[in-house]
Amino acid sequence: MTCEGPDCGEALQNLYLFIDHEIDDASCDEIQTHLDDCSTCLSAYDLEQVVRKLVSRSCSEVAPQPLREKVLESIRTVQVQIGQAEVTRIETQVTYTEVRRTQP
Ligand SMILES: [Zn+2]
Repeated sequence: MTCEGPDCGEALQNLYLFIDHEIDDASCDEIQTHLDDCSTCLSAYDLEQVVRKLVSRSCSEVAPQPLREKVLESIRTVQVQIGQAEVTRIETQVTYTEVRRTQP
């Protein structure tokens, strides 16, 4: 191996930090150098960039009204389910307490 600096594992581990510019310049350079030499890591990097572009593009678009309503509705449904689960849990506790109290 002629490759110096971080190996693939390390490069991939720091890839997200590298993309977000959240690592120091020295590490950045090491990863950049590794990406230049290593096609495996470079394609992982490219893929991540493509995904991010897609995500940011879809996030900048306003969701159409029917979709918004669907999402809001499913959020409400989940909230109701959580609420019911909470009630069931409290009821179970109450029943349990009553059972214990009525026992001799
Ligand atoms: Zn690599």
